[in-house]
Amino acid sequence: MLSFMLKETDYVEEKVVSSNNIYWDFSKNHGPKQWLKTWSFTTRQSPIDIVLQNVQYDTNLKTLNFDRQFILVHVTNIGWNISFRADNIRAISLSGGVLAYNYAFREMHFHWGEVYKGKCELGCEHTIDGKRYAAEFHAVHWNTDLYATESEAIANPDGLAVIGVLIDANESFDNNKEFEVFLEMFEKVPYMNNTSSFMVDPYLLLPKNTNHYFTYPGSLTMPPLTENVTWTLFTESIKISIDQLKRMSKSYPKESCNEKCFFKFKRQSDSLTITNNYRLTQPLNNRLVKSSYKV
Ligand SMILES: [Zn+2]
Repeated sequence: MLSFMLKETDYVEEKVVSSNNIYWDFSKNHGPKQWLKTWSFTTRQSPIDIVLQNVQYDTNLKTLNFDRQFILVHVTNIGWNISFRADNIRAISLSGGVLAYNYAFREMHFHWGEVYKGKCELGCEHTIDGKRYAAEFHAVHWNTDLYATESEAIANPDGLAVIGVLIDANESFDNNKEFEVFLEMFEKVPYMNNTSSFMVDPYLLLPKNTNHYFTYPGSLTMPPLTENVTWTLFTESIKISIDQLKRMSKSYPKESCNEKCFFKFKRQSDSLTITNNYRLTQPLNNRLVKSSYKV
């Protein structure tokens, strides 16, 4: 499958947003390399590069149980991303796989790169043997068995479970109908703090084969970078068209945007829209990546 390569030096640039009222963005001065000065973490950061020859097949890894149903989801342009958050953050539960508890769906979002002159600047977060995809989908869940609230879950090492789906984009791929459902919502929140709502099955974008996956202990990939995520990343990617990828980068990181916008994401074009909102891979350290199948 054709995919374009991204140089590791191609950092995301300039974005203004806050976490717990602490300023951060994607620029050289406030970006991923600087985050470590503000947020403390140890050896369990995400995303990572998954090196296939080091992955350990674990026969105990079971099928994940997805509670497929339509729920009310609120869509918000949060300045560096478009966030899809469940109205009822206990409505849908996730269990099985490597998870020892029930986790409930709370939010989903994407990470993606720019399309410039018909070519895709890759914007996924996890890589497999160094291969990058165009974009990545994350569905974030919190542990409802052990914790009474989301914030309590976030404060604990087994608090979150994130499902990751790699998204491939290519000139030869057709529009993805399921992806289009989410993309249409992107277009309803063009400026920061714009909101909208819709009824959707948050698992609409899962690949056909959810039995083949990688799992490892990691972190949030954006501040506060808390090391509380059990990651499940599917082997099978989903496919979207280049046009759909291009349409992901039409939203603005401010409430209104003109030539006076003083920040922008690093990109080839001179547009000020949200794109390249990803973090580069972090050291694996002594962690083990397990697989549900023989790689
Ligand atoms: Zn994410």
